Amino acid sequence: MVTSKKIGKRAGRAWCRECHAPIQWARNREGNPVPLDESPDPSGRWVIEKGRRTRPLRGVEWERAQEDGRLMFTNHMATCPARQSIRSPGEGVCPPHLRESLGLRPRGSDG
Ligand SMILES: [Zn+2]
Repeated sequence: MVTSKKIGKRAGRAWCRECHAPIQWARNREGNPVPLDESPDPSGRWVIEKGRRTRPLRGVEWERAQEDGRLMFTNHMATCPARQSIRSPGEGVCPPHLRESLGLRPRGSDG
């Protein structure tokens, strides 16, 4: 018997469209989705709380979380190699695949 559950879109489990790294989605306090690296990173600043809420910890709070052995995650936006290449200073050129997702026109088609 085949169940028709959604495949590849299980809650909190996904892959980065840019670099295909495994990521997980959580939501920040404002309810906006935040892509986190799937694997915990001791130097990460983001914790996942109940209801897949996430927020970055700072200062003492972060140190305390480390002592408590809480799992910390890195925001994938900060580590994604595909995104890093865009950030190089002086470039300022948005790659085509990102322009598309931003709803921008392809370069060169019109001024
Ligand atoms: Zn990525």
